[in-house]
Amino acid sequence: MKYILVTGGVISGIGKGIIASSVGTILKSCGLHVTAIKIDPYINIDAGTFSPYEHVVPHITDAIQEWVMRQAKVSVDDDGIEPEVCVIELGGTVGDIESMPFIEAFRQFQFKVKRENFCNIHVSLVPQPNSTGEQKTKPTQNSVRELRGLGLSPDLIVCRCSTPLDTAVKEKISMFCHVEPEQVICIHDVSSIYRVPLLLEDQGIVDYFCRRLNLLTEMRPRKML
Ligand code: ADP
Repeated sequence: MKYILVTGGVISGIGKGIIASSVGTILKSCGLHVTAIKIDPYINIDAGTFSPYEHVVPHITDAIQEWVMRQAKVSVDDDGIEPEVCVIELGGTVGDIESMPFIEAFRQFQFKVKRENFCNIHVSLVPQPNSTGEQKTKPTQNSVRELRGLGLSPDLIVCRCSTPLDTAVKEKISMFCHVEPEQVICIHDVSSIYRVPLLLEDQGIVDYFCRRLNLLTEMRPRKML
């Protein structure tokens, strides 16, 4: 099973859901069986009725990992075949207190399932204030630093911006966020969200996943797109 975790930085409502579903759509179009999990990080425990001999906290990250692995195996296609790829969208913004146990669970999870089976797409914002018209990279740099501080490294940084990213801005994000330029993906505002999978594909994400997760080569030796 390959797991693709989609996290978000800077602000909520940035388009993580659209990116996660677009990635799923692209991989499905490659002939893979794909499932998806959406995590909305809310944790409610009634401490008043909770036995003092039971403590959830140290086990919550294990419980999250086991739940993800269990859900990922549930077939979502009519043929009943177990999915090969699970796209996981983690709601909210990295650094939110309510998402911390989930981030920590995935930090541990990347080692449990091994590097070739787990990758992270971090969706960030590149604002373009009217005053200067410049595309600003600092919020993205800060959110990637925060993500790294929590033990997850982005494999792809998807930059949401109002207009296509200038090459120099892309290079700056690559340099300061410590990734290759091909790992910086630009998804600007589009008139129809159905264009998002095409933008992702145009920027080489199928090739990237093939290499990073041994996708298709491992699973579909001769059946490429
Ligand atoms: P999140 O999952 O981060 O909360 P969503 O995926 O739900 O964000 O997207 C928030 C809103 O932004 C939705 O109305 C969605 O249609 C819109 N949206 C997302 N990506 C784009 C885009 N590239 N261009 C235009 N609108 C977008």
